[in-house]
Amino acid sequence: MQNSQVSQEMLRLEHVSKKYELKGSGTLKAVNDVSFSMTSRECVAVVGESGCGKSTLAKMVTGIEQVTDGEIYFHNQKITHIRGEELRQYRRHVQIIFQDPSNVFSPRMKIGTFLMEPWRNFEKKSRKEAKEMAYYALERVHLGDEYFHKYPHQLSGGELQRISIARAIALHPQLLVCDEATSALDVSIQKQIIDLLREHQAEADFGILFISHDLALAEDFCDRVVVMYLGRIVEILEGKSLRSHAKHPYTKALLESVFSVHDDPNEAIKILPGEPPSPINLPRGCAFCARCTYACERCRQEVPSLQVVDGVHQVACHLYDK
Ligand code: SF4
Repeated sequence: MQNSQVSQEMLRLEHVSKKYELKGSGTLKAVNDVSFSMTSRECVAVVGESGCGKSTLAKMVTGIEQVTDGEIYFHNQKITHIRGEELRQYRRHVQIIFQDPSNVFSPRMKIGTFLMEPWRNFEKKSRKEAKEMAYYALERVHLGDEYFHKYPHQLSGGELQRISIARAIALHPQLLVCDEATSALDVSIQKQIIDLLREHQAEADFGILFISHDLALAEDFCDRVVVMYLGRIVEILEGKSLRSHAKHPYTKALLESVFSVHDDPNEAIKILPGEPPSPINLPRGCAFCARCTYACERCRQEVPSLQVVDGVHQVACHLYDK
C-alpha cells in the first residue's frame, strides 16, 4: 500500500510497557517491552488473540492510555507523557476508529453536528463553513446529504463506521489507528469499509495502524504485520509474506487456525491448542512455552528477543537465535 514517494519514519515505540497494579492480585502486564516503528503512508497490522495487548498498544499510541515504561515518538518528537493542549494537537494528527462505533456517538447528537465538531473545535470555522465541510465529509464516505439530519440510532453499524471514518479523516490526519474497526461488521460491509480506507489512504497519504485479530484481513490489507502474544511482539514480517515466510510457532499456529479463501476447502482448520497463561503470572521464559511443541529447557528459562531474520522480518524464538 506504500506509494512510490519516499516514506519517512512517523511513529516509533521504544521498549514500551503497560502495567496495571491489581489490588492484592499482583501486576498485569498488558504490554511488555514493545519496540517497532512505522513510516508515513505505511499500513501496519498488529494481530494476536484477545488479551495479547494490541488494543492497549493502540490506546497508548493515541494517548488514551498512559505508558508505564518506555517512550513513544511521533516524527522524532517524544509524545509519551504529553498532556493538555499538546495532546489535543497530537490527536488532530493521530485519529482512532473503534470497534463499536455506537459508543462514539452521543445518541442525542445529529450526525451533521458530530461531523461539524472537528471544524468548530480545531479550525474555529463558522457554523456555515463547518456545515459545508460536514456535507463534504458525508460525500467522501459515499453517504447522501440526508444523513446530516439523522440520529445515530437510525444508522446501521456499517453506516456509523463510515461516519467515524469521515470524522477521523476530516482534518487530514497523518496516522489513523483502527482498533478492530471492522470486527463487528458483516463480511460484505467489512470489505466496503476496507475499500473506503484504501481509497482514502491512497488519496490522502496517511499511515494506518490496523489492530485486528483477523490474520487473513491483515495479510491482504497491510504492508507489515506485527504479531503479539501476551504483551510481547513475537514476529514482524511483510503482509504479503505472512503465509509463506512466518517462522514463529505462534504465528504458524494462528495461520493454521484461520480460514482463508486461498485454503484447500477439503483441509480441516486446526485449532490452536491450550489457553495462554495468565498475564498476571507470566512464566519465566517464553510465554508460548506451554502451547509450543518445540519448547525446550532454554525456552522455559529465557525470554527470546526479537532478531532480524531477513530484511524487515524479525522473530523472537530460540529456534531462530543466531
Ligand atoms: Fe516455542 Fe521455544 Fe520458540 Fe517459545 S522460544 S516459540 S517455546 S521454540
